[in-house]
Amino acid sequence: MQRILEQALSGEELSAQELSKLYELDIFTLGEAADSIRQAKYQKKIFFNVNRHINPSNICADICKFCAFSAHRKNPNPYEMSIDEILIQAIASAKNGAKELHIVSSHNPNYTYDWYMNVFREIKKALPDIHIKALTAAEVDFIERKFGIDYQHVLEDMAKNGVDSMPGGGAEIFAPKVREYICKGKVKANRWLEIHRYWHSLGKMSNATMLFGHIESKIDRLDHMLQLKTAQSEKSRVDSKLGGFNAFIPLLYQRENNYLKVDSFPTGQEILKTIAIARIVLDNIPHIKAYWATLGLNLALVAQEFGADDLDGTIEVESIQSAAGAKSKNGIPKNELIYQIKNAGFLPVERDSIYNECAVY
Ligand code: SF4
Repeated sequence: MQRILEQALSGEELSAQELSKLYELDIFTLGEAADSIRQAKYQKKIFFNVNRHINPSNICADICKFCAFSAHRKNPNPYEMSIDEILIQAIASAKNGAKELHIVSSHNPNYTYDWYMNVFREIKKALPDIHIKALTAAEVDFIERKFGIDYQHVLEDMAKNGVDSMPGGGAEIFAPKVREYICKGKVKANRWLEIHRYWHSLGKMSNATMLFGHIESKIDRLDHMLQLKTAQSEKSRVDSKLGGFNAFIPLLYQRENNYLKVDSFPTGQEILKTIAIARIVLDNIPHIKAYWATLGLNLALVAQEFGADDLDGTIEVESIQSAAGAKSKNGIPKNELIYQIKNAGFLPVERDSIYNECAVY
């Protein structure tokens, strides 16, 4: 096993099957290898931002088995926000110091194409300095299919109307059989990647997620990471000025209020190993985010010693993961985040959405 680790660290091309053997290493060996990569890049820094999540609607044309957010039998509370309601939230959050709006929604068949673009335009008109991170590739694909407008056009319109970067959601797990089972109607894996590639070709940044800890195999996780690695390396071969992925975010599956039957869940060790392996394998993606909303703050902080360098942000209101049981409904105050980071022996660095450093505490 040590040999596979050495090969991975030296950048040798390995298959998902070969790389999945890294899980057999003991957690400290793996953690030490990932931590040394992280330390070389960022020393004791932990990045976070002051952001606000806005989820305009939970009425959805799709039925993903793992989803507790969309309005369905287990969550019979449909809602739909107007542009004015979104603006009120955005302005209030900006007054409280938010520098980024993270806007993702269900696939609501009632919204029009103009509704999406107007949301971005009106926010930018009211708050020209706020960073809008909006629309997952799954939403872009939904918009393409619903309105018959090709995704390239949708992405160009997003950029014109004020979207600064894209979140990484909707990637779930690329493995075709698992994807078909857990989120049949959603964007296909290759289209998710094409959408991000095109967004990068416009000079824009995005993130990439992976939903893990449900019915996927370890090989599926490594295959997912390798596909992201390839997409990221293609862009650097074409033109180093192009955009790309800022961060990889392994999202831990949340088990409540949904329709996905899962027999066993990953242990804390397996979660930390997944993060460490991501740091080792994804040497061309700058940041590995341990998203506190799905891991819980304590484990997310421990993950910073296993290759992660980012916790995500203050969030303010979190509806998607908390609907499935995560303890993230009310976000986390900035002071608390700073205190916890310092207490864990790290240096809190407030960043903007594309990882420029704004303040060191
Ligand atoms: S994950 Fe997204 S697309 Fe799937 S059902 Fe939930 S809200 Fe709809």
